Amino acid sequence: MRRDITPAQEAERLVRLRGEKGFDAFKWRVGSECGRDVDEWPGRTEAIVPQVARALGEGVAKLVDANSGFSPRRAIEVGRLLEAEGISHYEEPCPYWKLDETKLVTDALNLDVSGGEQDWDLAIWERMIEMRVVDIVQPDIMYMGGLSRTLKVVQMAAAAGLPCAPHSANLSLVTLCTMHLLGAIPNAGKYLELSIEGPDYYPWQEGLFVEDPYTVQDGGVTIPSAPGWGVEVNPAWLRGAAYRCSRSPR
Ligand SMILES: [Mg+2]
Repeated sequence: MRRDITPAQEAERLVRLRGEKGFDAFKWRVGSECGRDVDEWPGRTEAIVPQVARALGEGVAKLVDANSGFSPRRAIEVGRLLEAEGISHYEEPCPYWKLDETKLVTDALNLDVSGGEQDWDLAIWERMIEMRVVDIVQPDIMYMGGLSRTLKVVQMAAAAGLPCAPHSANLSLVTLCTMHLLGAIPNAGKYLELSIEGPDYYPWQEGLFVEDPYTVQDGGVTIPSAPGWGVEVNPAWLRGAAYRCSRSPR
């Protein structure tokens, strides 16, 4: 999730996690969020792509996320570097709301371009899939408003022959709901997005569940089989949470 991390630090922690957890796919960040071609610091993208890719080496899938950072021209230039370094998945190269720009990148490159994590409007999704803006759709179950609406995106994508690899950026319920979704759909993408960031990045996700559903073994997690979502939210966490009441004006 980090962009304040140097190429050497990112390579070190991903290689370490490969050994510790057995992950066989890694995603790291390039460009700058909605950065209009200005990098997090000069040269970071050109440095971090080869350094991390080569440190991870063969036998692992390599993915990057640009978080709407590039113009089509710059996105395609970065895309060529990604292809040369064996990256297979290029997420959100252009501003996500500019479907035509993303499509230029998808059409120009051979690797998979992915996106959709910010989109919740089914009309936009219909257009995105019909235009073939991306090769992989990435709805976020929470931003979408739940499983039923997400399944509509999944079904549209399946009809168009596209895989669905949802956005699940933290270890709250979103990743758990995504695990259940991926276990139930025919066009599940290759990976579950599983954040590796700890309490310094996401302090509120600590101790959320009585039993951690995100224990990794051989690079994978297990979809809980208990009733419902298969987890129990920790009562102590709930007691310590802030509560607010909101009402619809109608
Ligand atoms: Mg993303």
